[in-house]
Amino acid sequence: MYEILPWHKNVWKCINKNRKTSQILLIIGLQGIGKFNLAKNFAHSLLCDNLLKDNIPCGRCHACLLFNKNNHPDFLLVQSDNSHIITIEQIRIVIKEIFYTTHQGRVKIIIIKDADLLNISAANLLLKILEEPPSQTMIILTTSNIDFLFSTIRSRCKILTIPIPEYSICENWLRQKITDINHVKLLLSITNNAPLLALNLFNNNWLYERQTLLSNLYNFLYKKMTLGDVIIHFLNLDIKDFLQFFYYIIHDLIKIKLTVNYITNSDHINQLYFYAKKANLKKLLILQEQMCYLNYNYIQHINFNKQMLMENILLNFINMLE
Ligand SMILES: [Zn+2]
Repeated sequence: MYEILPWHKNVWKCINKNRKTSQILLIIGLQGIGKFNLAKNFAHSLLCDNLLKDNIPCGRCHACLLFNKNNHPDFLLVQSDNSHIITIEQIRIVIKEIFYTTHQGRVKIIIIKDADLLNISAANLLLKILEEPPSQTMIILTTSNIDFLFSTIRSRCKILTIPIPEYSICENWLRQKITDINHVKLLLSITNNAPLLALNLFNNNWLYERQTLLSNLYNFLYKKMTLGDVIIHFLNLDIKDFLQFFYYIIHDLIKIKLTVNYITNSDHINQLYFYAKKANLKKLLILQEQMCYLNYNYIQHINFNKQMLMENILLNFINMLE
């Protein structure tokens, strides 16, 4: 049975209003909220020969079978490889696909996943297609970082936002996949109600890994571990995960200082209160600003020396304690 994610019900209605009218769509929303899932479901729906109620693909027709095997000739997915860049060569393939490949009489659909990863030459070439898109072509872009998408591209798109889902909808959906309710609550707290990201973290054993990292961090703060010992554990993380991990801890400490009740790392409330008492608010705010700046640079694909960055953050972290 084909499923539209429960928090996509309204946005699914909206996107289906664009079945004929729009040729360029931009789907935006938080990481892990299902932008690509929505784009792919919509592409699938446009290709299906025997749509069910509410434009749900039948899953059985020839087009659906080809689509499900990632083999539909009128569908092209463009995404970055490990380099975290979408290159001009990839956009040249899009042009070839749109202008020089015959299709099966239906619309040709291109999804550009994480379009903020287009480099400047790729973006300029894509812009030429977006300025005068050929008929019978639907281009769907997705991004979690709309501020990093070239404004010239953004202005050519009809924007569709996936709102942050209500907690109860996320919880109900995740409870069918994760038995421990405390894990569900914690994962939704860590991810700001992004259910797919929460499930992905769970499947990758992040809760266990996070617990180990927090224990090591406390040992470092208690001076039971040296910087050299603790850094070994953090080096296993991607820079992005490392920045996010520290950002939320710092954010929680600031919230405790400012007597805000709701904190993200709710399972570590006692330890965080303990460190918040020792922490200097001004230094915490500076550190938070530093994390935002590093994250901004990371999204812009500026290369970091990973070990140096992590050591720097850890040292600044211990220095904010009084
Ligand atoms: Zn079908």
